[in-house]
Amino acid sequence: MFGVAALVFSCATNPFTQKKTLALVSNSQLFPTAFAQYDQFLTENKVVSGTKDAEMITRVGQRIAVAAERWLNANGNHGYLNDYKWEYNLVDDKTVNAWCMPGGKIVFYTGILPIAKSETGVAAIMGHEVAHALANHGQQRMSAGMLQQFGAVAGNIAIKDEKSRNAFNQYYGVGSQVGVMLPFSRSHETEADKIGSYLMAIAGYDPAEAAELWKRMKANGGGKAPPEILSTHPSNDSRIANLKALAPKAKAEAKKFGVTTFR
Ligand SMILES: [Zn+2]
Repeated sequence: MFGVAALVFSCATNPFTQKKTLALVSNSQLFPTAFAQYDQFLTENKVVSGTKDAEMITRVGQRIAVAAERWLNANGNHGYLNDYKWEYNLVDDKTVNAWCMPGGKIVFYTGILPIAKSETGVAAIMGHEVAHALANHGQQRMSAGMLQQFGAVAGNIAIKDEKSRNAFNQYYGVGSQVGVMLPFSRSHETEADKIGSYLMAIAGYDPAEAAELWKRMKANGGGKAPPEILSTHPSNDSRIANLKALAPKAKAEAKKFGVTTFR
């Protein structure tokens, strides 16, 4: 008898996408690292607290989180968010960006607020970014080779040095200091748009606003260097049309949860 070295990766159906996805890293391996990276990010950036805008970010985030939980429970996926430790922070930074790390760690930059324009616009961004996290898109774009660099195969992901840290942040769309950000694939964008529209609708926000938001995002990118979020979430006309078509479906989904009016 001889030993065969095999890497066993779990393959689970994601409740949001209904797809079997190769989970290269489990949440229990990934979350502690993500939480540590998030805390470090907060210590290195200027967190805004006690303002109307900061309160709005928290309020929208909590509503989106509740919507995700309700949707999961209604679809028989109790406990999916057990390891999530939701946190919502506004950071004083001109960068046009927002992101959600694995485990529900969210940052909005003040620079994105003029484009979000309203609480509903914030909900559209929040729903979309949270959707990327819920659908494990970051994990999927992390390559097996990358994982070896992190030493993630046996145990928690180890952030060994600055280079690993930057790479990790790149995969999860964190920060503007990293340099080249990796865009999500077109199919991941489409998935996040759909899940995000449903979440914002269940949270009581008008999903029709999502198309308007991405129109503003696109207009803002014209001419000058595009905003950070556009380099990682490329926008186009077919995407905006798709979001428009999604809005009535998202409202119909929200109705199942008794939500029939939208702010
Ligand atoms: Zn996206």
